[in-house]
Amino acid sequence: MSILVYVENTDGKFKKSAFEVVSYAKAIADNTNSDLVAISIGNVAQDELATLGNYGASKVLTVNTDQLSSFVNQAYASIISEAVKSTGANLLVLSNSFSGKGLAPRIAAKLHAALADGALSLPTIEGEKLTVKKTAFSNKAFATVELTAAIKVIALSPNAYETKETGGTVAVEPFTANVAATDFSTIVREIVRATDKVSLPEAEIVVSAGRGLKGPENWGMIEELADVLGAATACSKPVSDAGWRPHSEHVGQTGIVVSPNLYIAIGISGAIQHLAGVSSSKTIVVINKDPEAPFFKVADYGIVGDAFDIVPKLTQALKAYKG
Ligand code: FAD
Repeated sequence: MSILVYVENTDGKFKKSAFEVVSYAKAIADNTNSDLVAISIGNVAQDELATLGNYGASKVLTVNTDQLSSFVNQAYASIISEAVKSTGANLLVLSNSFSGKGLAPRIAAKLHAALADGALSLPTIEGEKLTVKKTAFSNKAFATVELTAAIKVIALSPNAYETKETGGTVAVEPFTANVAATDFSTIVREIVRATDKVSLPEAEIVVSAGRGLKGPENWGMIEELADVLGAATACSKPVSDAGWRPHSEHVGQTGIVVSPNLYIAIGISGAIQHLAGVSSSKTIVVINKDPEAPFFKVADYGIVGDAFDIVPKLTQALKAYKG
């Protein structure tokens, strides 16, 4: 097998999900005695590229032109597809991040490849066949899919696989791809950051709150708890519908799907549509004053009580613990 991984960067720094996909692909490469090559698009400095060696990539192909400094879905999909062909890779691994969700199906269509998006674990490999567990129906279910096409694409859920430092060095090689003018039919003119805080889809810890908070004026304690934990903030749909919080924080079936290591749900009932977006979190903590709230059924830890009493105490305790 020959494996290519696409490593995403933000402003020249690799995202955590980039190291996750390299670590994931490295485990497959070790099992199959395969080569592991990465492709990086955009302006990434040599010392940053070198970090990929520490996670197991032996070579990184770099594509860097001014036109590509911002993410352009079609152009990136063309370049990565070309790289798959030119390296002879039969497995492409990328993150099921915002951009990965746009790229993976485009690349799979271009290459007539089999696609597993939202993969949760390493594949089992029998000859040419890869069997992968993945999320399905907006995270309401899991599916086990068999990839049998000559080229396979796996889009790995953020936080589903732990990074593993293996040591090692990586060779850096420029890569030139033919990108058609039509691939630039969408041009990014400006990127405006909504927040400097941790990105919600990739956050390791999420502090989320619902209608139990009563109003937007009470989110200070949620943000304080999130700050202490280095967490992203999220909310239920009615909260963003009411304009208490931005829609970018809404998680669930009709919002963002998250799979952090820790999801803290405060004053959220745990409706099925909300759970659809959070159920693959590794640990769920629920704070709710109603002991019958459905969220407790899926919680790893539950605190029955008033959020206005518990959250400030929890924040204080964490501050004291951190010194
Ligand atoms: P509520 O259901 O009103 O629950 C508030 C909770 O706060 C209660 O459990 C209450 O006991 C608790 N509480 C109250 N006061 C306190 C206090 N002082 N301290 C502690 N706890 C307190 N919802 C989503 O979140 N995401 C989605 O993507 C989504 N998509 C949907 C799609 C469809 C098609 C439909 C029909 C609905 C969707 N919903 C979604 C809405 C969903 O069904 C629920 O209505 C919603 O999740 C409820 O939000 P909530 O838990 O914040 O509010």
